[in-house]
Amino acid sequence: MHPVNTVPAADGDTLHEECGVFGVWAPGLDVARMTYFGLKALQHRGQESAGIAVGNGSTVLVRKDEGLVDQVFTDADLKAMPGKVACGHVRYGTSGGGGWEGAQPHLSTINDTIIALAHNGTLVNTDAMRRELINMGIPFRTHTDSEVAAKLIGYFTQETHRIREGIASTMAMLEGAYAMALVREDAIYAFRDPDGIRPLVLGELACGKGWVVASETCALDIVDASYVRDIEPGEIVKISDDGLESQQEYRSATSSPCIFEQVYFARPDSVMGGGTVYSARRRMGERLAQEAPADADLVIGVPDSGLPPAEGFARASGLPFGEGLIKNRYVARTFIQPTQELREMGVRLKLNALKDVVAGKRLVLVDDSIVRGTTMAQIVRMLRDAGAAEVHVRINSPEVRWPCFYGIDTDTQDQLISANKSVDEIRGFIGADSLAFLSVEGLLASVPPAPGHCCACFTGDYPVAIPEVFSRGSFLEGYEPTNLTDPSPTALMSVQEVADVLEVCREESENAWGHEVVGASGRGEQEG
Ligand code: SF4
Repeated sequence: MHPVNTVPAADGDTLHEECGVFGVWAPGLDVARMTYFGLKALQHRGQESAGIAVGNGSTVLVRKDEGLVDQVFTDADLKAMPGKVACGHVRYGTSGGGGWEGAQPHLSTINDTIIALAHNGTLVNTDAMRRELINMGIPFRTHTDSEVAAKLIGYFTQETHRIREGIASTMAMLEGAYAMALVREDAIYAFRDPDGIRPLVLGELACGKGWVVASETCALDIVDASYVRDIEPGEIVKISDDGLESQQEYRSATSSPCIFEQVYFARPDSVMGGGTVYSARRRMGERLAQEAPADADLVIGVPDSGLPPAEGFARASGLPFGEGLIKNRYVARTFIQPTQELREMGVRLKLNALKDVVAGKRLVLVDDSIVRGTTMAQIVRMLRDAGAAEVHVRINSPEVRWPCFYGIDTDTQDQLISANKSVDEIRGFIGADSLAFLSVEGLLASVPPAPGHCCACFTGDYPVAIPEVFSRGSFLEGYEPTNLTDPSPTALMSVQEVADVLEVCREESENAWGHEVVGASGRGEQEG
């Protein structure tokens, strides 16, 4: 989710995922508690707020608040939310869309039906739709794109009398990145944007009593569910007493999953594209050692995401791998510190150098990315203060030169150090003896093969059109993004125009959608 029309600030040298979603359909089991555990596994994707919505057969109950999952839910809260279906959400804080109102799932009422929606990603064309819906008398509580999606689904469901058609019509209008889970009183729906930018996987409980959807497979593992498959780009999955039904909607010619999931966002134990993220990160380090070797004594990584590529770099270069930086996991994020001095202290509170490991050594220091360069400059200084003889920085991703509009909090381009300085100028800024980044080709060769990836923050090749009004002020002079796909025709129509088209289509072809039905006790059964 994303506040409409803002591009929030990045936290130091790191890009941040904005959300994680989880959903479960399991009648007879404690679905609220399972969602709680799923959200705990996805906590790395968002720490500002957490929420759970439960469908109990007759209505939907939501509890959400600011804070970590542990802080929002007590045992008593979970006990008070019995049901057969649930979805949950963890949210990363942004500069413009915080607070309780921004927490998800979003509740929306359609006549006497209540739905709750959890969204990961950013929608780039909801501004005009929001205005139109308000003009139609539909009230809004937040300024987020996620609420526009929830209200659109409600509106089109009212028009078509079927939630699946409400979702499909909404998908026809939305542009951007989204992976969503929606619950009503007795069913869950999971759906993903036509380019598959944000991840969403389907799992089956080992006990055979239900299904799970989640942003990452690590959230399946924690509730003892096995990975079945990814929710396909443009697919809508419904899980209810009728089993699992799937319907393919608007799929792009090539899918474009976010490659930064493999670099940094996802947990290393999650499986993406057929392999663990940990293995992909190790291969990135191996490739980096081939592309940019260093004459050094020891390879260390910046915890946590720099450790697997550091291991790979060490293995490929024949150098020893060591632990040179220790992370304190219980310190608040640096971005809440208002001044540079306090931010600097924040880095020291989060990381400390192991003096007897690094003193006198020529180090290779591996990290996942450099955004502004300020944090890396402090880490290099910390290592030198601890006695390091040389610090050779190696980054297991290409230079981040372009802002992201698909669910990641990136600064505008003028804040990205690689958009403003040469590699040697960055080396000087961070105080390293040498600096090198992995190539785009090297990164793509390190992850499991796929028909396509979004690499836009490295290349400026954006897979989905970004309206000028949304990206205004984000690009520096001389930077022209490329490869923007054309918006879908319905994305250019008004809500009312789409509703009129729907009316004509419905009269011409009532219930024309084919769909696969899979019983909870086994997949493959077909509905006639
Ligand atoms: Fe991921 Fe970068 Fe694409 Fe954003 S621009 S979706 S961070 S690869």
